Amino acid sequence: MKKLMIAVAAATLASAAAAAYPEKPVTIVVPFAAGGPTDKVARDLAETLRKHLNNQTVVIENVGGAGGTLGAAKVAKASPDGYTLLLHHIGMSTAPALYRNLPFKVLEDFEYVGMVNDVPMTLIGRTSLPASNMAELRTWLTANKGKINLANAGLGAASHLCGLLFQQQMGIDMTTVPYKGTAPAMTDLLGGQVDIMCDQTTNTTGQIESGKVKAFAVTTTKRLTTPALSKLPTLDESGLKGFNVSIWHGVYAPKNTPKAVVDQLNTALRAALKDPEFIKRQEALGAVVVTDGRVAPAEHKKFVEAEIAKWGPAIKAAGQYAD
Ligand code: ASP
Repeated sequence: MKKLMIAVAAATLASAAAAAYPEKPVTIVVPFAAGGPTDKVARDLAETLRKHLNNQTVVIENVGGAGGTLGAAKVAKASPDGYTLLLHHIGMSTAPALYRNLPFKVLEDFEYVGMVNDVPMTLIGRTSLPASNMAELRTWLTANKGKINLANAGLGAASHLCGLLFQQQMGIDMTTVPYKGTAPAMTDLLGGQVDIMCDQTTNTTGQIESGKVKAFAVTTTKRLTTPALSKLPTLDESGLKGFNVSIWHGVYAPKNTPKAVVDQLNTALRAALKDPEFIKRQEALGAVVVTDGRVAPAEHKKFVEAEIAKWGPAIKAAGQYAD
């Protein structure tokens, strides 16, 4: 009887807390530098989510480093009260294969809130590169073996995965230059300090449009429809058969966040994904807002599980590990 009363009291407290949620600003941790593609998605989403969370402020905290694993680890250990969330990308599914001592368990340490969007990547280069299309780039890369600098956002980043597969399929090893995100990597690419990079369209579309970088190809098997990118060939049609990397973003809360809070966040997320302004802004950057079942927490988790199974063998075959 006493046990039952305690359980009832705890459940009442939890639902009272959920009913009041959010009563203070909610923080979304972005595991990469400010100004980059993950950050841009998070800031756009935060602005839209706020409208569906009692107009409560949604703050972005950038915790870049180690390919996104530092930020994810911080959220895994945060208080499970709905006030610290994570917005992360495909790195959630590649980290388990890349890190021997990953400080969190992707499938056990988080509540899955739902997925946000799918974003293709582009292969871009500094404007001073003496190559303007894929064939010329291949010639230049072959002639410059041992001297090529490929920027990325660290082991586990999307740019790392894409660059890894690119090197493998080209059969050319490049020197990777890791940054805390592709925003600082882009600054160096614009300055000509690094040669090439794979990055999400959410970060590259504007730079391609204004001619500040050279764009060589897209990483999906289908060409894109975004005007600035529609002329770009796919890597698949450029000789890298089967090359297909598309980045997705999802929202996570620390494990044991009350179900009522996760449900509330999921309802707010679904509303944000139907917001015409949000959809328009995302489309302009080449991102496709999720409209399928992956917006549901269980489907989101199932999808990440499938991605872990998909990328693990490719990464292990490439022999890339960190401790
Ligand atoms: N685009 C980056 C990546 O390579 C991350 C970022 O800076 O948002 O994963």
